Amino acid sequence: MKEFLLLTPGPTSVPARVLEKTALPMIHHRTKEFQGILERVNANLQKIFLTRHPVMTFAASGTGAMEASITNLFSKGDTALSFSAGKWGERYRDIARAYGLDVKSFEKTYGEAFTPREIEAGLKQHPGARAVIVTLCETSTAVLHPVEAIAKVTQKHGALLLVDAISGLGCDPLKMDEWGVDVVVAGSQKGLMLPPGLAFVALNERASAKITASNLPKYYFNFTETLKMMKKNDTPFTPAVSLIRGLDEALVMLLEEGIEKVWRRHAETAAWVKSKVASLGLKLFSKAPTNALTAIEMPNPIDSGAVIKVMRDEHRVVMADGQGELKGRIVRFAHMGAACTPADARRGFEAFTDAMAKAGFKIEAAV
Ligand SMILES: *Cc1c(COP(=O)(O)O)cnc(C)c1O
Repeated sequence: MKEFLLLTPGPTSVPARVLEKTALPMIHHRTKEFQGILERVNANLQKIFLTRHPVMTFAASGTGAMEASITNLFSKGDTALSFSAGKWGERYRDIARAYGLDVKSFEKTYGEAFTPREIEAGLKQHPGARAVIVTLCETSTAVLHPVEAIAKVTQKHGALLLVDAISGLGCDPLKMDEWGVDVVVAGSQKGLMLPPGLAFVALNERASAKITASNLPKYYFNFTETLKMMKKNDTPFTPAVSLIRGLDEALVMLLEEGIEKVWRRHAETAAWVKSKVASLGLKLFSKAPTNALTAIEMPNPIDSGAVIKVMRDEHRVVMADGQGELKGRIVRFAHMGAACTPADARRGFEAFTDAMAKAGFKIEAAV
């Protein structure tokens, strides 16, 4: 029996090299040995985020990083502009609301992306805005936002730019310092090829200057404490030792390949999957596609759940359904992280084609 191939947009498959490191015997974290690991991990994270600023690591899923960025940089009543194009943008917006920010919500039809011009219009409408919140890769719709151009706009208007790059990091290009992105949040279980359980926040100096003014309650996710401990290659609480050892290896793998090449591998795989999907006569759901996954629209009356079930049961290929109102309407074929290879994409596409045929879709002979 073939092994399961995880082509879901998180968690993604974890390379054997990384798994081995996560299974090593436990070590204590207040030791020279672990400090050495943290020192290397913190330096290598900067090379992946393309920043000279600190990248903080927390034991949490990605949402923890989103929440931390709100509670540590803002105060009750601060105006934040949320630009959401799907479920993940909505989550970031809802977190900001939950902490009492004055959130102005801009929403896109699912499948579309915001333009820098629309973000600028929002900023002109709300000149007191402290923050602009966007998603690099909106995983629920496979939409990519033009973060480089958006950062130009936010810098001009003096608002902090917070980017949810949880699924985009390591798949779509993101150059934090060069583009002038103030806050990047990420998670371990997508492009970073790790099990779930680590969340990351990187801040530039514009963002870190906001920490002291923030009056929102915080304890576990505390940037001041975390940054202070990072200077000594230490952490305020017990770190996720095994995951950090896996992260150490995953970062080495990404750096061996080179981040630009990692992006190119994702771009090429995404292009191949899109062209094959188009050759079946199917439509892409995203009008601004990411490299991280392809969202395939189901023609009436095919239900994506049935297609996904055949792929899983008969081919051991795992893809994701749509979320919320998109459930049943799209198949999300991820090519993210370690399983972003020509061989895995081909296996995914073959399973998909067979499952579509079994669901009653007429496959043309040309395929
Ligand atoms: C996966 C994901 C998240 C966070 O999810 P967690 O389950 O908390 O790790 C946030 N934003 C985006 C864009 C994602 O893809």
